[in-house]
Amino acid sequence: MKTTTTTTTTTTRATGAAAQQPEWSDPEALEEVRRELRSRPPLVTEEECATLAESLERVARGEAFVLQGGDCAERFREANAEETGRKVDQLHSLSGRLRAGSGAGVVAIGRMAGQYGKPRSESWESAPGGGVIPTYRGDAVNGPAAEPGARFADPTRLLRAYDCAGRVLAAVRASWEGREAAERVHVSHEALLLDYEYPLARDGATGRYASSAHSVWIGDRTRSVDGPHVAFASSVANPVGVKIGPSIGPAEAVHLSTLLNPGAIPGHLTFIVRMGSARIRRLLPELVGEVARRGTPVVWVCDPMHGNTMRMGTGVKTRPMEAILEETTAFVRILRSLREHPGGLHLEMTPQDVTECVSAPRPFSAPPPLSRYRTACDPRLNAEQACEVVERFAGML
Ligand code: PEP
Ligand code: MN
Repeated sequence: MKTTTTTTTTTTRATGAAAQQPEWSDPEALEEVRRELRSRPPLVTEEECATLAESLERVARGEAFVLQGGDCAERFREANAEETGRKVDQLHSLSGRLRAGSGAGVVAIGRMAGQYGKPRSESWESAPGGGVIPTYRGDAVNGPAAEPGARFADPTRLLRAYDCAGRVLAAVRASWEGREAAERVHVSHEALLLDYEYPLARDGATGRYASSAHSVWIGDRTRSVDGPHVAFASSVANPVGVKIGPSIGPAEAVHLSTLLNPGAIPGHLTFIVRMGSARIRRLLPELVGEVARRGTPVVWVCDPMHGNTMRMGTGVKTRPMEAILEETTAFVRILRSLREHPGGLHLEMTPQDVTECVSAPRPFSAPPPLSRYRTACDPRLNAEQACEVVERFAGML
């Protein structure tokens, strides 16, 4: 996709073009939106980010685990106290299980209050009535309905994303009432849309920080070492993550660790591994070994979702529980065998009663009942399935 000229100006290191940016429909409106975002109050405070950083330092020391989870793509219409309360409850309940199973502390982080931009492998898809339409790129960009009118990239949606994130955060903060700082749910999302992230970066007392979330991560498709996403993540003080897929090599992983955690701060950088159950045993050991030898400290977290996506005959995406559980098991075994801390789990999950990931043996013939398939993007674990994955992880420790 074409990149906007405004996204790469704030950094000196990035020489590559910004991948996965929308072709915004109206460049002047985009400029207006960026101005507006710069003038708005920060969504999160520097102190809140520092609290999360302290918790993640305990993970880096091997004294706690991360449980990061939520929707693949959050929806604007779910940005209310009720839905958010359910998601926070799910994170607390899974954290409780992981705490009980591991006997260690758990740091709960939602994929929420900003998970509104999606990278896509295809820019176009076939329309139900014939012809092609742009793909859905998250509520901050366009709408999921399969019709041309919903799919143009509308920059004013970035302002709605900010408003929705604010509502979700208000509900998340309400859940902090009466809880120790270490038990609070914090929020995170993929820092994908640079026209959102750069205007929301703020100068704090200790340096520049992303005020869009307590922590952001860089996706597997945008983690190029000379790209603007990595440059953005390296310019902020928040704890940051990077998704690490099968195309990464050991040298690149080492390079990323030095770019994103130059100060070698324990807990500042998390590598979120998403290799797939078929590849993790072959690829992960060397990465972990090389980063330990030549890189800076990273927390290793397992995303057993994104390397295990498959399409059913109907074209609908699903993920077999079998592969998700197998990758989780392999992850813990590999980290343990290398005397490294298996730092936690990163899950796409929902408290809603859905069937999006399936327990059926491969290959799949029938789609899950559509009434229970509701995700706007990737298939999520339902409450019971998420429990099963957490129990498996805890049981391996
Ligand atoms: C995601 O987390 O929804 C995602 C797109 O992941 P990845 O960057 O690992 O493909
Ligand atoms: Mn996803």
